[in-house]
Amino acid sequence: MKAAVFHAAKDVRVEQVELPATPADKVKVKVAYAGICGSDLHAYHHGIGVQIGTPHPLSGKMAPLTLGHEFSGVIEEVGQEVSGWQVGDRVTIEPLIYCGACANCRSGNYNRCDQVGFVGLNDNGGFAEYVLLEPRTLHKLPDNVSFEEAALAEPTAVALHAVRESKLKVGNNVAVFGVGPIGLLTILAAQSAGAARVYAVDVSAERLELAARLGAIPINSLQQDAASVILGETGGVAVAYEAAGVQATLTSALSVVKKGGEVMVIAAYAAPVQLNMMELMIKEASVTSILAYRHIFPDVLALISSGKLDVKQVITKKITLDQIVEDGFELLVQDKSQAKILVQVNEL
Ligand SMILES: [Zn+2]
Ligand SMILES: [Zn+2]
Repeated sequence: MKAAVFHAAKDVRVEQVELPATPADKVKVKVAYAGICGSDLHAYHHGIGVQIGTPHPLSGKMAPLTLGHEFSGVIEEVGQEVSGWQVGDRVTIEPLIYCGACANCRSGNYNRCDQVGFVGLNDNGGFAEYVLLEPRTLHKLPDNVSFEEAALAEPTAVALHAVRESKLKVGNNVAVFGVGPIGLLTILAAQSAGAARVYAVDVSAERLELAARLGAIPINSLQQDAASVILGETGGVAVAYEAAGVQATLTSALSVVKKGGEVMVIAAYAAPVQLNMMELMIKEASVTSILAYRHIFPDVLALISSGKLDVKQVITKKITLDQIVEDGFELLVQDKSQAKILVQVNEL
């Protein structure tokens, strides 16, 4: 079968790989759509976050590895020991790899597993015609949820988890820093949770246009000082969601939070940053972060199915697997008008 295989930084090859026979405890999924994520870009451009050199303790896999952790598809084959799933079931994938035995897993916080990993970074993922998966990663799609929407369930789960774990209450004002796909989905999630004003702060006019189309108030931080606009209009927001992951946005996020408010960090940071602890203390504010999600996919799918989260709006381009490097990983760092690019792997 065809797969986009990570060999090393800047070396992802779309090539023929052999798919092993389906193990008794796994399910074989034929992939429909797979989304390209910021972490795929970190992996492709810098070799960050992907399993290199030593095998992952749970999956036993390391590079060369197939990337892709945001995907949907159809069950093609069910292992002999697997129950509850049928050939032909339409599914999306919750790509967390966890042990199920450590204290965090046993307390239900499986995203905090001591050995946490991701399908598509620590095991072979969805930029391939077929994937072998543990049944617990699968979530069945409501009939009216398309494969395109279902490929967005994973990043939507991140956004929804961030909003749920934050201090946002119905009627509060919030700000979102960085309106790439996760930032855009956070705008939608905050709106569905009852946010009044949602400010979107970014440096790309094109991205801000998309954010404005979703109903956010755009602020281009190259042209306007986010703090003076937001403090002037609202006196400060209850929650600033940080979805950019750089020093400037963290600093700015804290500056727009009202007293008692919160900075919720969603982004991954490539390097350590500084935080003004006196400003934090004087505001009696807090900084919180999330990693991925837990126990949230059924709610994500229900919200998409009900029309309350129109996630299709963040899709800006669809490509084929053969185009993934040029029109995906490379394009996404050059073309700031792009949000979510979906790879159509099979026509289903
Ligand atoms: Zn992702
Ligand atoms: Zn664990």
